[in-house]
Amino acid sequence: HEQSNGSAETTPFAVPEIKYTKLFINGEFVNSIEGRTFETVDPRTEEVIAKVAEGDKEDVDVAVRAARQAFDHGPWPRMPGSQRSRIMVRFAELVEQHVEELAALDCVDAGKLFVWGKLVDIPSGVGMLRYYAGAADKVHGEVLKSSRSLHAYTLKEPIGVVGHIIPWNFPTAMFFMKVAPALAAGCTMVVKPAEQTPLSALFYADLAKQAGIPDGVINVITGFGHTAGAAICSHMDVDMVCFTGSTEVGRLVMQAAAMSNLKPVSLELGGKSPVIIFDDADIDKAAELALNGILYNKGEICVAGSRVYVQEGIYDEFEKKLVEKAKIRKLGDPFDPNTQQGPQVDKKQFEKILSYIDIGLKEGATLLTGGKSWGSKGYYIEPTVFVNVREDMEITRDEIFGPVMSLMKFKTIEEAIQRANTTKYGLAAGIVTNNLNVANRVSRSIRAGIVWINCYFAFDPDFPYGGYKMSGFGRDLGLDALHKYLQVKTVVTPLHDSPW
Ligand code: NAD
Repeated sequence: HEQSNGSAETTPFAVPEIKYTKLFINGEFVNSIEGRTFETVDPRTEEVIAKVAEGDKEDVDVAVRAARQAFDHGPWPRMPGSQRSRIMVRFAELVEQHVEELAALDCVDAGKLFVWGKLVDIPSGVGMLRYYAGAADKVHGEVLKSSRSLHAYTLKEPIGVVGHIIPWNFPTAMFFMKVAPALAAGCTMVVKPAEQTPLSALFYADLAKQAGIPDGVINVITGFGHTAGAAICSHMDVDMVCFTGSTEVGRLVMQAAAMSNLKPVSLELGGKSPVIIFDDADIDKAAELALNGILYNKGEICVAGSRVYVQEGIYDEFEKKLVEKAKIRKLGDPFDPNTQQGPQVDKKQFEKILSYIDIGLKEGATLLTGGKSWGSKGYYIEPTVFVNVREDMEITRDEIFGPVMSLMKFKTIEEAIQRANTTKYGLAAGIVTNNLNVANRVSRSIRAGIVWINCYFAFDPDFPYGGYKMSGFGRDLGLDALHKYLQVKTVVTPLHDSPW
């Protein structure tokens, strides 16, 4: 793999100024009650970027009280939707004005490519704010057609105080995916960013205040999952929890919700998504699509196309192209515009991926390319492709969450469908073919929340997104996500004044 100019090996680009490191509660930055902090680390250099306030149960209690007060008595849920909409648009504009600074924060905190942050992640967060701002004044119930002399209608009311627990792989997109629809619905919230990437969420909290979002509506508690995260899930005064993260933690979230106040939860969990490439595909384009499908964001994306099935007629040529393309990927400092792949988010993730590569070799799979760490500093891993893999191997069953692909050959459409569905997950799938009948049949047969035909990672604020099977339930994005944050209340009155 070529080393790009100014790579992490030599002179890492500068860390941006870190302005916010405290908890954000009721419109103020505050230390944690215990005064503890934790370190957030630059995955390019393995050096500490900043010490951030470590919120725990007591801090969550204070934040939930602020959110409760803002919901029960504050202006946010009560103001006309059009007014919430105007404030959300102002919030979007402020985010846009700080795009470089925010992209730099996500770059040093998560190892994300700066250019992608600037051109994709931050603008997509802005897009979500604008999309839901446009929906905030269009929330309404309906008049019901009673079978008796009754006048009845539904009201759509905000669900209340929401706990948002988000992962580290898309600190910005995940923040807005959760916060924007909840704001539009009129909810108040406590957000817990991942401990690996706490910085941009605190910046967003400050921008929200500047935009005019009232105190207590958005509170941000930085800290760990088993302490702060768990406290949100089991809190008796949190009305709903929206979680994105691993399937194992998703189970704990649901359990805590059940054992406390039976709050509803939505869970966006892991994936092991198939990409199925048929004989009629343009081989070069299909190889590019498949490679991007596993390498985007260094494979740290829940919809990564980690199982690639290629039909036998084009398999050999596809394999050749894929390897050629994988070998010329540029690893390096994510600030460098020539870099195509930055470091994995942290040491733990880095070691987890390398240990899966070991497992693959022990299971008898063959490395076609990659398989090693890269450079002498930072958490870089080469683009890695395994062949001679089967669905019952751990590397093909488990979510690795790194740049590791299982490449497999298939003969018939029936076989492709059956093998693609051989997974406990069901988040996404990709199909590459020009045959409409094949595309239609496969897209309807795959049990997954989103199916991309001749594209991959095509997201939009308007496209509902979420899992089947153990990838979770509930949808982010689209109007489905707005409705997740709304309660339906039915109001009934007799049509005539006679008592009945
Ligand atoms: P994780 O589940 O450990 O952490 C996610 C979040 O949950 C973090 O904020 C963490 O602090 C918190 N958390 C941890 N333990 C908790 C607990 N007991 N109670 C409450 N909160 C707790 O996941 P991770 O390792 O940070 O992220 C990687 C995983 O997340 C991968 O498996 C990936 O598939 C999944 N993921 C899924 C999506 C999706 O949209 N479906 C998106 C990103 C990541």
